[in-house]
Amino acid sequence: MIHSVVANNGFVLRNGSSGRRSSAPFSSGGTAGEAARLDVPQAFSHFSYEHTGGDEMVVDIQGSALRYTDPQLHSSDCRYGRADRGDKGFFDFFSTHKCNARCRALGLPERDAHSLIDLDL
Ligand SMILES: [Zn+2]
Repeated sequence: MIHSVVANNGFVLRNGSSGRRSSAPFSSGGTAGEAARLDVPQAFSHFSYEHTGGDEMVVDIQGSALRYTDPQLHSSDCRYGRADRGDKGFFDFFSTHKCNARCRALGLPERDAHSLIDLDL
């Protein structure tokens, strides 16, 4: 369960102890330009998947100017309610995700919908 993630790569996620959606924003410490800003939510979703060993993922990130809110969580056992689409959510994200410079800077493995961890659709 993701309660908080503070990584040495600049990502900070604040989440309630219930693991439900949080109104608290998370942000990146980066100062890159507009193109890089668009990459941050995608890279963070990918990071969250890798950080939890393929058990959870933060998606649907909204925001601008490197301040992001309104995340949704997917988990392998759909523990976060109706909007948690579990493995289908992981699959759908990685069906469209193209690893970007942020993913590579974080050392994330190249991943697509066909290389998910313990996928059970
Ligand atoms: Zn990626």
